[in-house]
Amino acid sequence: MCANQQFDFDFVVIGSGFGGSVAAHRLTEKGYRVAVIEMGRRWTPENLPRTSWSLHRWFWRPKLALRGFFNMRFFRHVTILHGCAVGGGSITYATTMLRPPDKIWDMGSWCGLADWKREMPQHYDTASRMLGVVTNRILGPSDLLLKTVADSVGVGHTFYRTNTAVLQPPEGQAGGQLVPDPFFGGEGPDRTTCIACGGCMMGCRHGAKNTLDLNYLYLAEKRGARVFAETRVVDVKPLADSVGAEGYEVRTVSSTSLFGRGKQCFTTRAVVFSASSLGTMELLFQLKERGSLPQISDLLGRYVRTNSESLIGVRIPGSREDLSKGIAIGSGVFIDEHTHIEAVRYPSGSDAMSLLGTLLTNGRPGPARILGWIANIVTSALCHPIRTFRILQPFGWARESVILLCMQALDAHIDMRWKRLWFWPFRRFLVSQGRKVPTYIPAANEFAQKFAKLTGGVAMSMVPEILFNVPSTAHCLGGCVMGNSRTDGVVDSHHRVFGYRNMYICDGSVVSANLGVNPSLTITALSERAMSFIPPISENRWNDTATKS
Ligand SMILES: Cc1cc2nc3c(=O)[nH]c(=O)nc-3n(C[C@H](O)[C@H](O)[C@H](O)COP(=O)(O)OP(=O)(O)OC[C@H]3O[C@@H](n4cnc5c(N)ncnc54)[C@H](O)[C@@H]3O)c2cc1C
Ligand code: SF4
Repeated sequence: MCANQQFDFDFVVIGSGFGGSVAAHRLTEKGYRVAVIEMGRRWTPENLPRTSWSLHRWFWRPKLALRGFFNMRFFRHVTILHGCAVGGGSITYATTMLRPPDKIWDMGSWCGLADWKREMPQHYDTASRMLGVVTNRILGPSDLLLKTVADSVGVGHTFYRTNTAVLQPPEGQAGGQLVPDPFFGGEGPDRTTCIACGGCMMGCRHGAKNTLDLNYLYLAEKRGARVFAETRVVDVKPLADSVGAEGYEVRTVSSTSLFGRGKQCFTTRAVVFSASSLGTMELLFQLKERGSLPQISDLLGRYVRTNSESLIGVRIPGSREDLSKGIAIGSGVFIDEHTHIEAVRYPSGSDAMSLLGTLLTNGRPGPARILGWIANIVTSALCHPIRTFRILQPFGWARESVILLCMQALDAHIDMRWKRLWFWPFRRFLVSQGRKVPTYIPAANEFAQKFAKLTGGVAMSMVPEILFNVPSTAHCLGGCVMGNSRTDGVVDSHHRVFGYRNMYICDGSVVSANLGVNPSLTITALSERAMSFIPPISENRWNDTATKS
């Protein structure tokens, strides 16, 4: 038990991504004393890496002394890309802010729990204003190529400029200009306009990307929220009773020290889990197993969605244009009713991701596709040895490549379970199970091949997709979905955790349907809605509990 029996904080928020930063800001506004506990580091334009070859400042594997802001987790069914930093995924995200179609509220476990179509627009509006969302004015060479290819295959009319959270220069003016806070009437920080360097996913070193540490979290800290960076939550348990009505103790360790030093313990009246879909699931599984939070619903880990995503692309060796210019995701097209493709880029010099790239190979997953892939490489190497070398060697990849992020709005999900592995039975791990989400989206492959043909490039895909039939996603969602009761959800429609008092989840884990578009705006809007139900501190009876709708 923590030594201090006075509450250290009214709310402890675990994680500082989209859900966590909204919670911290809105709660401090309502007068609460808030702690935000964040496993990742704090980043500034000065300490962000120049390119992805600076692995120790890009990749997150603290036990290997890699203390960056980007992580990849490999599961049997999916490779998950996610952020880890003060500001969560906003430090590495590509700034695309899209509203999903209304039909998503009629799908999944949240259907019927609230009048979503009436309630959500106001929260999307608030989220868009806070995050500074605008229509992208900067079309780079990759976006123009996407438009040309879309025209040539008859879907040019679906081409759109993304909505993006980037401070763009006024029409006709050059970027790189320092301006006083343009968003919060002088309460926010000074900012610099975008120079279209394509570096958003490596962290913006120019102060133009609207990351959470420049809006929600910035304002929360200004109002007194305390952010504990490089601090990992390892335990949360009720202080006195079994349901948390008397508050919780939260235990943490240093996330960057090699020997688990820096243990701390905080007491709090209420807790908000905002550690992302993967992070919240993993933490709650640990706490359920350990007996700290045994009443968490058995639905934990169910209905994990990957936005049915596939990462393909085209490399144009010797491209005269620098395809890395623009913002990270400048535009998109719909190649059919369900399939949406965005043009993505890394900044020049950030070529490390190319190590996962290979020649695109058609066909259903399995041994036949692997043989086809080997045959493709051998044929290409024999017929065009120099060209094959130029395509597969990493240097210059970002300058010469258009990554095509393909998302489908069709509903498909997997489950995450907490299990011992046959080859390491000493402890449990998060493992995926269920039917595999397809890695082969024929229409998307066909589009990439047409793209390659029209531009003189070569269609590419990801090695894990071909070899292991494992798709990759930067949009892992669900795992703590909404329901009517403990038997069909982990939280109710107000994000309150079934079985506990004054405990909430605000992050991607509560998203209860496949969005088919990038999710951050939806996570932000949902968290705005969840926080709107929490009363100001003077009116809080500290007895908030999940109910049936
Ligand atoms: C390369 C990349 C590009 C992307 N581009 C886009 C895009 O353009 N548009 C879009 O909408 N989405 C994009 N995404 C996805 C987006 O980043 C996520 O959907 C979003 O960040 C999820 O928000 P969240 O609130 O659920 O959690 P996150 O933003 O992931 O934040 C969770 C935080 O919790 C912390 N945490 C986890 N466990 C613990 C613990 N035990 N203790 C303390 N802290 C903990 C993590 O370090 C992390 O910082 C991208 C993702 C990646 C990886
Ligand atoms: S394109 Fe460059 S300057 Fe613009 S937001 Fe992205 S990283 Fe920042």
